[in-house]
Formats: sequence, C-alpha cells, structure tokens
Amino acid sequence: MKSRRAPKRLEYFDRGCAAYERVTGVAGVYLCPLCGDAFTQDDVESDRLTLEDVPPKSVGGRPMCLTCRPCNSAGGHQVDATVAELARMGRLHDAANRRGTPFSARAHVPTLAGRVNARLSYDKNGVRSLKAYRSENDPRILESAATVTSVRVSVPFRVSERVAFVSFLRAGYLAAFSFGGYSFALDGRLDAVRRQIATPDADIIPQSAMMIVPRDAVPSNAPFVGKSIRPILATAVCLTIAPRAYRGAIMVMLPPLADGDDFYDRLTPLYPPGEGRRRQETEVVAWGWPTGPEHQWDYPIPEDLGQPR
Ligand SMILES: [Zn+2]
Repeated sequence: MKSRRAPKRLEYFDRGCAAYERVTGVAGVYLCPLCGDAFTQDDVESDRLTLEDVPPKSVGGRPMCLTCRPCNSAGGHQVDATVAELARMGRLHDAANRRGTPFSARAHVPTLAGRVNARLSYDKNGVRSLKAYRSENDPRILESAATVTSVRVSVPFRVSERVAFVSFLRAGYLAAFSFGGYSFALDGRLDAVRRQIATPDADIIPQSAMMIVPRDAVPSNAPFVGKSIRPILATAVCLTIAPRAYRGAIMVMLPPLADGDDFYDRLTPLYPPGEGRRRQETEVVAWGWPTGPEHQWDYPIPEDLGQPR
C-alpha cells in the first residue's frame, strides 16, 4: 500500500540516489546514512525507507532525508524521548522565569511524614499553583503536610546525559549528511559516529564532540551546518534544540573532510569535560541549514558557500 507521503520520499530518494551515483558510480541505489544498507525505489513504495525528521519532530524538526525504518524507529524511541524531556525542562525554566509559557507536570514534595505527589502548574502569567490529590497520596502523609507553609518542589525528569549526547550527535550527523551528502557520510572516519548512534549506551565518541556555546558566539540564532576554524578544523553543526535548558546553542563537532584520522583524539584535550571547556575560543563559519537532501558536496559547489574543507 502506498503511503500519502510517498511523493516526497520518492523525491528525496531520487536526490540521494543521484548523489550516491556521483560519488560511487553506482546507479539506482540509496544508502541509509545510519546503517549503510542499500535500498532501491521499491523500498520507498513499501515503506522500508522513511522520512527522517532532523532534529526530532518533538522539538520542531522537519523531514530532511531518508533513513531505513529500523534506524528511524530506533532513534525515535530512545533519542526523541530524551530530547523531548530536555525541551520540557526548557519549558519549566521559561515558566518559572515568567516568560509566558504555561507548564504543568507531576512534582514531588518531600515532607517529614513522607513524599507528597503533587501537580505543579504555571499559567501564562507565570502564576504558580501546587495541588495534591487524595487519590494519588497516602491520606496520613497528606494530612500532616497540610499545615506546611514552605515547601521544596522537585519535578522529575528522565534524561540520560549519554543518550542526550547521542541524540545531538545523531541530529548533527544527519544534518551534515543532508547538507553535504555521501562525500561526507562515506568518509571512513564517520564509521565510529554511526556505531555510537547505533549503540547510544556505548562509550565510542567522546562527549567533547558536543558543546554548548554562548548564543553570541555563533553567527545567528538559527541552526546551521558550517565549519569550525578555531581551535580545531571541524565540520560543525549548530542545533537550537532545547536551547533554554542549556542556555546556549548546541554545537556538534564532526570530522572535517580530508583531515587526519585522529580527529576526536585531538578534539578532547581542546574541550575537556566540565568547566574547562574553552568554548569562547570556538570560531565557526555558517554555511546554511538544509531544507532537504541537498547533498551539496556531491555536486559542484557554488563559490559563495565556501569549500567544505
Ligand atoms: Zn538504516
């Protein structure tokens, strides 16, 4: 059965196919940029190739390229959930700072008698309310908490730092693939990035590959694919997902074309984890943000875009 979105997928398939042929000479094949499996046009019609939202749809992403169904849903389940949690954290931060964002979440209130389950809400004026329902609480704990006048409220979030890192790495890699194409993705140094994306819990790519840069250190407030010039030559992807949770833009560092094999070994000392990140010294040039599979590096590059290396 053909899906309604097949025309867009067929268009993306054709563009990816043409890019792959330019790089390898092999016609009629689309390579999933995540697992490297080869697909044909039949796989578009049978829904084995799917539209991939970059960044995830839950944080405002748009279809940018095709990935195979297993790769797409693997990313969807684990990674999108984390990114959505980060976005929720950002909305709480905004609500608490009276930025006109309503917010509501389950919350915990520790008391001497035990934990009270409550619901924390902010309306659009930033007015906070905290309600505890009988049906969700031990009546004795609720009764003893009724006289408490000052409370500490915590909102539980489920975010794994490693999985969050991999979600940004995945979005950055797919944006760079959509922008650059197979000239970029088929570079052997991206194998480690793909293995990291496929196994989010594994420790393959150092977390220094993602950094938070102050908004005034990047050329614009919009996401972009570009290059880092200082302190290291890199393909840099700037994402604006959940920016308020991080209070900055997220930069994903990927190997630049035609450079050494030891990119991540050289990157880590420049961006040590924790406070030592010398983020103010990062200098980047923005090329643009792909609206679909542009695969510009597989085709002649217009002068004003600059060379990818
Ligand atoms: Zn795949």
